[in-house]
Amino acid sequence: MIGAILLAVALAAMPVEAQRVPPKAVTIAGATGEIRIAVRRDADGAPVLPAPALLAALGGAVRLDGAWAEVNVARQPFRFLVGAPLYRFSDRVRPLAGSASITRDTLFLPLQFVAEIVPYFLGERYRYDRARARLVDLGDGAQRVAVADPAGPAPRRSSDIRTPGLRAGHVVTVDPGHGGVDPGNPGLFFPRGTREKDVTLQVGLLLREELRRRGVSVRMTRTTDTLIALGDRGGYCSESCDLFVSLHVNSIARRRGYTGVRGFETYFLAEAKTEEAARVAKMENDAVRFESVQATDASGSGLDFILKDLQLNEHLRESARLAELVQKGIGAIHTGPSHGVKQAGFMVLTTARRPSILVEMGYSTNPEDGRFLTTRTSQRAIASSVADAVVAYLLDYERKTGTVSDAGRRR
Ligand SMILES: [Zn+2]
Repeated sequence: MIGAILLAVALAAMPVEAQRVPPKAVTIAGATGEIRIAVRRDADGAPVLPAPALLAALGGAVRLDGAWAEVNVARQPFRFLVGAPLYRFSDRVRPLAGSASITRDTLFLPLQFVAEIVPYFLGERYRYDRARARLVDLGDGAQRVAVADPAGPAPRRSSDIRTPGLRAGHVVTVDPGHGGVDPGNPGLFFPRGTREKDVTLQVGLLLREELRRRGVSVRMTRTTDTLIALGDRGGYCSESCDLFVSLHVNSIARRRGYTGVRGFETYFLAEAKTEEAARVAKMENDAVRFESVQATDASGSGLDFILKDLQLNEHLRESARLAELVQKGIGAIHTGPSHGVKQAGFMVLTTARRPSILVEMGYSTNPEDGRFLTTRTSQRAIASSVADAVVAYLLDYERKTGTVSDAGRRR
């Protein structure tokens, strides 16, 4: 019953994101200055950019090769099949939202190339500020530093991408799942010795960095390899906190073809609706067994009580909306399929009294996801997309609630 209501709420929240209007122009900012390039519409009405102007601004090159257009940026070749919604990069064919096209001898590339693809694959050098429709070229130096020290925090020359219009003082709690004696899932396809708890912490710390760059304060449930009692995690987000994001890695039990399952999903607090959602919730809630005896009394009836208490609570509606935005954001950068927004009764979320979501960032039991989740560039891309979604959510929330500052409830 509650499930049907929540689903309707989640669906109602979706169109707002779909209505995102493409910018009139994008700005390419580099060491030599800024160039503004008007966004056009192709025959299908999709936003595109003229490749010659774009590549001139990026210092790259474009070359037509039969049906393919090869676009070189920072000496990396991206190959677009003209007229088809796909491109090739790093020996893999990948989907595009629109197509490259040729109009009056000029090649046009989907806006997505600048807004998502370049900052994703060349993230150490290019950053895209969606709110300002601005691609910043940090130059060769940034790339060399990053390559020389892949494990260190990537230095940024323009570290501040603060969102215009976003009120100051927002606080987000980031919860890297598991930790300490609770390793989470063992990470079948992670590099040797890497477990779920390590990946959630790595992405969690990057998410903190990305949120701070956007002018959002962050509270971490943990910043080291320690175990926080499941019942306590949600308590990190109470009065002075706007929302709660828990990060996890999925896995699936050994059975025929199980390594083929991959992709990502975002949960918001609710009663577990499907068998699969219940399975994931059970797995994450199982972490209780690593905690001391006193910490486990929040299970069972406590969960039911809290769920009842939260029925139709606005916080639930907000959680659904936040989950939609995050799921969509990750969808733009993840190489695996989206499993959508789901509901489940995660104990970690039931104790947080603010909009709360739990992100399963991929499957460690799948080789592609295993690789994706453990490379610094894609971890950064996940963190960046979640941070963008959180900011979009906060902006939208501010719009809905007007300018009434509730600074009073913050410290
Ligand atoms: Zn987990």
